Amino acid sequence: MNREAEGTDRAALPSVNALMERRGLVHIAERQGRTAAVAAARAALEELRGELGGDGRTAAAAENGADGREALAARAEELARRHARRARRSTLRRVINATGVLVHTNLGRSPLSRAALEAAARAARGYVALEIDLATGTRGSRSVHCEGLLRELTGAEGALVVNNNAAALLLAVNTAAAGRAAIVSRGELVEIGGGFRVHEILARSGARLVEVGSTNRTHPADYVRALDELGTQAGAILKVHRSNFVQSGFVAEVSARALVDLVRDRGGGIPVIHDLGSGCLVDLSRYGVAREPTLGEAVADGPAFVTASGDKLLGGPQAGIVLGEATWIARARTNPLTRALRVDKLTLAALEATLRVHRDPARADRLPLFAMLARPVEELRRSAARLAQDLSGVPGVTAEVVETEARIGGGSLPGAAVESAGVALSLRGTGAAELEERLRRAPTPVVARVVEDRVVVDLRAVADDELVLLRRMLTTVLADTGDRGRGAG
Ligand SMILES: *Cc1c(COP(=O)(O)O)cnc(C)c1O
Repeated sequence: MNREAEGTDRAALPSVNALMERRGLVHIAERQGRTAAVAAARAALEELRGELGGDGRTAAAAENGADGREALAARAEELARRHARRARRSTLRRVINATGVLVHTNLGRSPLSRAALEAAARAARGYVALEIDLATGTRGSRSVHCEGLLRELTGAEGALVVNNNAAALLLAVNTAAAGRAAIVSRGELVEIGGGFRVHEILARSGARLVEVGSTNRTHPADYVRALDELGTQAGAILKVHRSNFVQSGFVAEVSARALVDLVRDRGGGIPVIHDLGSGCLVDLSRYGVAREPTLGEAVADGPAFVTASGDKLLGGPQAGIVLGEATWIARARTNPLTRALRVDKLTLAALEATLRVHRDPARADRLPLFAMLARPVEELRRSAARLAQDLSGVPGVTAEVVETEARIGGGSLPGAAVESAGVALSLRGTGAAELEERLRRAPTPVVARVVEDRVVVDLRAVADDELVLLRRMLTTVLADTGDRGRGAG
């Protein structure tokens, strides 16, 4: 664009003040306040400037005298309304998880149980005995909440709750090995997702990382050699559960139990830290899913620390669970990092309620995660058949019931598939990728997967009470053939 044309476009654009006088903006100001209306006007003008550069029609309007100026102002008004609508909506939108991945990190992992929701709401509404000893009236510690339940459920001598498992690992390694070496197998220097890499966490823990073994095989002798070479510089041995991938073929690893034994045979002193990841408390074979080591089993191996997430297979809120020997937990408790990594009352309340549900294994289905896992696949097939039948009535739609494999996900149980069912959708004249995107842009977004040119809506992670809403969203999107971007505003 040459200088002259640019001058014309700028002059044709309404000012913020002029835009504020238009009906649409007056409306926004009345309903959402003047600040919101000005923000919408500015954002609209910004966007319009972009259109003048790229959109031929808008640019042509700008050349066109008074009519052109009115057209631009009307366009700015329309854009401002759209901005205002978007700004009113939370960015943390509720979505329907039709991916078949139950613990989906990008979708917030575990849904909470009703008990956990109520506990968190109660804690949020008023004051709670967060850091007060009610018997003596003296200052108490927030880190004692959940400790009793965690000890009871896992057999650990001590327990501590922090912000998430990454924080738990950071705290454990810092407490055990700051200023010295942390020994890890090369096969366990994993990336969990969302940019969580074990070696990057270790780099910030104050411990020096010493890698042993090879990518596919690590033997006890590798750890022994490192311990011999490091001498008093050895701070800890870290064992990381491979929670999001499987290794097979010519592989060898040393179990946490074997590491604990190895250290003990050498006279002790070197703490073993086991990052278990998913923090399962129940035997998953009940649900036809491959067994995952439970927190209790990991504690029974005897390491100094076991760490896990609260929002994976525990089915609770985001939290980091630190379990271990009483002396090590006591040291972690007084580590200044604990203050920086602490959790709030809502998390503690929700976690405590979740742990209470786990006290009775027969009630595990009260946790939505296990309720969804427990549903018989025939039931999902029936729901899928009803859904497919309804959707087949929409012109241009092909809907077929399909057998699917759902996953636990979220860095839990890499290989474990869960039998599931869903509906494979295609819409005449619309590509699968585009349809998938349109479902994501629905008023209640539906997150689904593209499998071989069709969009698959998996029902394993869709709660029973979401089915009606899911059907409505699918029907709306599939029936709305024209004018893309309308729903996006
Ligand atoms: C998921 C996972 C983590 C990270 O846990 P967050 O709670 O997301 O911080 C760390 N280690 C392992 C083995 C995991 O599976």
